[in-house]
Amino acid sequence: MNLKNPVNKPPQSTSQSDAQSKRVSASRRTNVPRTVTAPWQQMPANLFLQLNTGEQGLSTVQATEYLSLEGANSLQEAAGTNVVKLAAAQFKSVIIWVLLVAALISAVLGDTIDFVVIVAIVMLNGIIGFYQEYKAEKAIAALKNMTAPQAKVKRDNRVIIVPAANIVVGDILVLEAGDLVAADARLLQSASLKMTEAALTGESEPVDKQANKLLSANTPLCDRDNMVFAGTCVAAGTATALVVATAMNTELGKIARLITDASRSESTPLQQKLDAFGRILVWFSLAIVMLLFLLGWWRGSAPLELVMSAVSLAVAAVPEGLPAIVTIALAMGVMRMSRRNALIRKLPAVETLGSTSVICTDKTGTLTVGEMTVRTLYVGEQCFTVTGEGYAPQGDILLNNQTVNRQNFSGLHELATLLIGCNNAHLVEDNGQWRVAGDPTEGALLAAAHKVFCGQAGGELAHFAQRFPLEYEIPFDSDRKRSCVIRRLEDGTLRAMINGAPDMLLQICNRVYTASGEQPLTEADRARIHQQNTLLGQQALRVLGSAYLDLGHTLPTDLSPAAIEQNLVFVGLSGMVDPPRAEAKAAVAKCVAAGIRAVMVTGDHPQTALAIARDLGIAKEADTVVTGAELDRISEAELVQRAPTIAVYARVTAAHKLRIVHAWKANGAVVAMTGDGVNDAPAIEGADIGIAMGRSGTEVTKQAADMIITDDNFATIVAAVEEGRGIFANIRKTLQYLLAGNTSELLLMTLCVFIGLPVPLLPIHLLWINLVTDGFPALCLATDAIDPDVMQQRPRTRDEPIAANHFLSTMFLTGLLTAGVVFAIYFYSLQTGSVELARTNAFTTLVFAELLRAFGARSETKSLWRIPLRTNLSLVVAVCLIIGLQVWAHQNATLGLFLKITFLSLEECLLLLMFSAIPLMVLELVKLWQNRAQKTAAIVG
Ligand code: ADP
Ligand code: MG
Repeated sequence: MNLKNPVNKPPQSTSQSDAQSKRVSASRRTNVPRTVTAPWQQMPANLFLQLNTGEQGLSTVQATEYLSLEGANSLQEAAGTNVVKLAAAQFKSVIIWVLLVAALISAVLGDTIDFVVIVAIVMLNGIIGFYQEYKAEKAIAALKNMTAPQAKVKRDNRVIIVPAANIVVGDILVLEAGDLVAADARLLQSASLKMTEAALTGESEPVDKQANKLLSANTPLCDRDNMVFAGTCVAAGTATALVVATAMNTELGKIARLITDASRSESTPLQQKLDAFGRILVWFSLAIVMLLFLLGWWRGSAPLELVMSAVSLAVAAVPEGLPAIVTIALAMGVMRMSRRNALIRKLPAVETLGSTSVICTDKTGTLTVGEMTVRTLYVGEQCFTVTGEGYAPQGDILLNNQTVNRQNFSGLHELATLLIGCNNAHLVEDNGQWRVAGDPTEGALLAAAHKVFCGQAGGELAHFAQRFPLEYEIPFDSDRKRSCVIRRLEDGTLRAMINGAPDMLLQICNRVYTASGEQPLTEADRARIHQQNTLLGQQALRVLGSAYLDLGHTLPTDLSPAAIEQNLVFVGLSGMVDPPRAEAKAAVAKCVAAGIRAVMVTGDHPQTALAIARDLGIAKEADTVVTGAELDRISEAELVQRAPTIAVYARVTAAHKLRIVHAWKANGAVVAMTGDGVNDAPAIEGADIGIAMGRSGTEVTKQAADMIITDDNFATIVAAVEEGRGIFANIRKTLQYLLAGNTSELLLMTLCVFIGLPVPLLPIHLLWINLVTDGFPALCLATDAIDPDVMQQRPRTRDEPIAANHFLSTMFLTGLLTAGVVFAIYFYSLQTGSVELARTNAFTTLVFAELLRAFGARSETKSLWRIPLRTNLSLVVAVCLIIGLQVWAHQNATLGLFLKITFLSLEECLLLLMFSAIPLMVLELVKLWQNRAQKTAAIVG
């Protein structure tokens, strides 16, 4: 053992300890416990605690100071946003180099203006691209922060939640099932603690941990049973533990050091597809360029001039701004989602979200408000009504509408004792409002128990924990569906108190509590209680049963749930309301319109689940429920076949959730699945979209999820799907807009070269159009307001390419129309004036046509006048500004010189503007015609 400074002042005497702690921390350079260095596993836990922070944990002041001295508790990552790297990336694309070559050729040809302008445009493009990507990365990084892991620690003798990065050596971690361990820590207390250490040791089975074991210094990592390690998670049980190492000093940190390639590509499938598409375009344009080059040569044009035209064509073909614009569209969409309470953890999820076709959702707290009030207590064959609203512990107990004298019903007392005894929640009053701290179900039980004890034992309730000290606890888990505590009664004997799902509880009871003491539980009793349970369930009440077991004076040696939870004495039922969320019904209706199936997957009783599902419209009148027990009897193949007909699953465990996900996937569905418990992580990972609950969810599920819903609300999931669809639609129309523009340039250039006319557009013109006059409207399209109609369409199929449906035909039609109009104007101008004037006319017409077309591009189906302009003001402003700039360039000699255009009067500009509206108008007519045809088809069909 290695004690540095065995006497440590307790942290209460702040003024003194402040000065002292500064001295202590200043003398320490590395991460070691406040007073002790490794090996930590050798020391008894209580001595350990004494030597360190004391039971109340660090003070907030100390923790802040240590944090600033020792640094954040996070693993060093392969550098995040790297400005230099980002800037360099702007010059990676082939097209940039092609352009620079063009600039060089211009210089050789003695065309200084061309040289300057091309270089300037390339630079401008680089700066804009850099800025956009920088902003997008920042947005995504901000989001990552929001979803960063959190940890519960004891500081100032209070349990608080802090970002895991703020944990320091000396902190006391408070752990329960589903928590991720934020740092290496020595256990101080533990209750049936099981840890999943796969991340560290590769062992996938949970291992048992014990606070009060002592181990030798050379115990291997996988056997250090009195320690927990960063990156592992709590599979079951509860514990407190003292942090001994953070950040790179943890065992995980030591491994992380060895891993060289920590960087993971975050680009989405769509981005990858677009990248691949972009490469094809480059080759395609190179081929055309070669062709035209040969053609020109054969006609005897000057080679260098030819090279310039060829380069222009290459520029015309490639949508340079696209990658940056897609990144922006994704990042903006993700930010918009976060404002609607959906935090995206993995960028590719944004795209998948839009094609979600099945949402499997939890009931409690997601479809319902999750604020519960006990309405019924059933005990000793009598059904009592409980009055009062919310968590306020005030209300009456009625029997046949008469207030009862609670003294006369021993069963009520017995039940209320169990409700309080097996309970981890607290009721707190906040400005006259009663809230629950902890599980809402348990809060409701607590309030009901208060109402039973009201008046005569109210004072004693506060001291319940002292009167009946806690000896052992088996926490609630959603597979057992019950929780159990062992308390010592006043006569010195131990009693296990158990609350849980009645149907499952009854299976392990063999006696029943009656006014005349314990009686054997007969079949008739069982039937009666089951019937009552079903009856309450049909009223949409969530029902819990309570039971106890006397254990004598000493704790049994075998404390496993299976050993303790048997031969219980059944006491009674509590039925509580949990009303459906008001917005859930509308959200379900939205799903129906959008062709998305909502499926309820709950641990609750089938009747309760069905009553709520019917109320919300998830289940039709004729629909039935499938329970977990029934699922166990159904084969994989049968489930695949039946899944589309099942709307409600009840009494399921985490393993069932995974089966449901697989069954839907086998049906070709894109499945979203919610989860909150520890065991839900596999189902969440298995689903296409894993959704974790922000409030009630465990840390493990959050880290496994693609998306976190911060308000636990079903409507938020539907809103996120809507955003996902909107983002996809925006990217698609931006792509359409840019590619159609490029098509028109390509067609125009090819046509002119082919029939031997001088090139209509100079490299500068093409660059200007592609990077400036197309770039800004494209950006506005990519961030367009979401069309509410996206939720009226059926979901995309899983592998639907972005260029599906009319994409290509519309693109070619648009290209043809625009090229046609510009060619007509160019050809006419050539007959009547100089080449310069003809080019000027062609260039400006093309710019105008592109700008006007942006308005039509906002929707593939809706007519222009049905999309309000005010929903995309930035587009209006951008288009007006660029038109103004273009007109001004014709008036201003210097600008004209740079853009290689001649003077045009305002009237001439207006005339060109009118001609340039032709493609837009024709496209709108086509839209109208298509809509009409579709409507007729719908009527006929
Ligand atoms: P869901 O969240 O889908 O409603 P849960 O897994 O939370 O389902 O609960 C399943 C069942 O477990 C409930 O119907 C109830 O009987 C029981 N239960 C829920 N919470 C508790 C608790 N805190 N203590 C004891 N039993 C509980
Ligand atoms: Mg739950």
